[in-house]
Amino acid sequence: MTQRHDNLINGEWLAGTGYAPNLNPSNLADVIGEYAQGDAAQLDAAVRAARAAFPAWATSGIQARFDALDKIGSEILARKEELGTLLAREEGKTRAEGIGEAARAGAIFKFFAGECLRGAGETLPSVRPGIGVEITREPVGVVGLITPWNFPIAIPAWKIAPALAYGNCVVLKPADLVPGCAWALAEIISRSGIPAGVFNLVMGRGSVIGDALVNHPGIDAISFTGSQGVGARIAAACAQNLKKVQLEMGGKNPQVVLDDADLAQAVELSVQSAFYSTGQRCTASSRLIVTEGIYPKFVAAMQERMAKIRVGDALAQGTDIGPVASLSQLEQDLSYIEIGQGEGALLAAGGERLKLATDGYYMTPALFSESSQDMRINREEIFGPVASIIRVKDYEAALACANDTPFGLSAGIATSSLKYATHFKRHSQAGMVMVNLPTAGVDYHVPFGGRKGSSYGPREQGRYAQEFFTTVKTAYTLA
Ligand code: NAP
Repeated sequence: MTQRHDNLINGEWLAGTGYAPNLNPSNLADVIGEYAQGDAAQLDAAVRAARAAFPAWATSGIQARFDALDKIGSEILARKEELGTLLAREEGKTRAEGIGEAARAGAIFKFFAGECLRGAGETLPSVRPGIGVEITREPVGVVGLITPWNFPIAIPAWKIAPALAYGNCVVLKPADLVPGCAWALAEIISRSGIPAGVFNLVMGRGSVIGDALVNHPGIDAISFTGSQGVGARIAAACAQNLKKVQLEMGGKNPQVVLDDADLAQAVELSVQSAFYSTGQRCTASSRLIVTEGIYPKFVAAMQERMAKIRVGDALAQGTDIGPVASLSQLEQDLSYIEIGQGEGALLAAGGERLKLATDGYYMTPALFSESSQDMRINREEIFGPVASIIRVKDYEAALACANDTPFGLSAGIATSSLKYATHFKRHSQAGMVMVNLPTAGVDYHVPFGGRKGSSYGPREQGRYAQEFFTTVKTAYTLA
């Protein structure tokens, strides 16, 4: 009998109206557990509990908040191997990547524990004599957090930690596909000393729980990470209800490779950011934009490097790339192989479904060459281990191509030229720019986010998180 995992509402573990199995995408015979499916009534109870807990938590001492967040961070770090293994088992990234993500979640809680103590305001003179002006930050209220499946512990952590640190109460709805890490995190939070109702977990479908959360009158703000289509609908609903909203969405991130790049370095960082974590990162490079002098060598070196990539069970030693997270995502990835070939791109490597010892969603990472910027494979987010190479004449053409996208999350350049690196940093229309580094892989203490169709609202992470999770008050006092 598989273990059942309930929702956390007002400090109590409550059964769902049903349960859904959480399957290992490396081995579909492996059922990780059964996870509660909530309904609108449970969501309503969670929001009411958060509202009731808010006045006390908003004015609680900063020491109490520090202690709780620091304790959560310490436990995650102490259990990073166990949590990383659970993550790899339910999402399909390798165990090493899973442990790295769990460690990141722990570090995020530690960082925001410190933020509890660093809360600062400003005191300014008034333009009117004898009056003082104070500018302070206060919590927004009860925040609804909606998270995707590809970072099942880090993304919940980078929304929950700042929300709690700045004095908000939380209702989390994690992705239905991977509730295991969110549940484990909720269980740790439930023992951290924070009062009942401050943090609530309601699992279930986006169309049921997510929709009810976005439209609930007791919610003051929504922080969402996921696809552009769902994000746009959430933004419209929040505008209608005058809720604060923050959206982190997709990407079609360019990796420029110039003639003067170190070839081995350019290949390594392209492989890392296009295919590791099975290409299922919003910051993954899916367009490799290569100037014509290095193009033939780059294509050949990529093919040689990709032949060495080991696709396998996420928990097995030696696996470089685990399975795709779900059947629908696998079908989408494979459909883009057909679309690319139909558009006239050349399949230079991979792109096939793999049958391994266990029944899982395996495919070989795919690389197109001879592709052009107007093809669907270069305009639409695929969100799998599929990348394409676009040949361009020179740096100016590469920059124009890199910016020619409705997205703007991350962009990279491989070059030994300070002139081009500096120009690219200034003129790339992305929120995050990398020089001789993969487009994926960022620090936890600095802002994260993009431009254009990739992001909407204030940045996440680092001190910049306070823009979303606090509201500013300006107070005037007659001396
Ligand atoms: P998704 O389908 O948009 O789902 C994201 C979350 O929204 C899930 O929890 C989902 O619930 C929920 N949801 C679905 N319909 C909803 C509705 N009508 N109302 C409220 N919530 C709803 O995205 P995904 O497939 O999980 O994640 C992949 C996407 O996330 C990619 O586009 C990727 O680029 C993006 N992403 C962006 C970042 C970033 O920081 N920019 C980071 C990671 C991922 P259920 O799944 O449970 O139904």
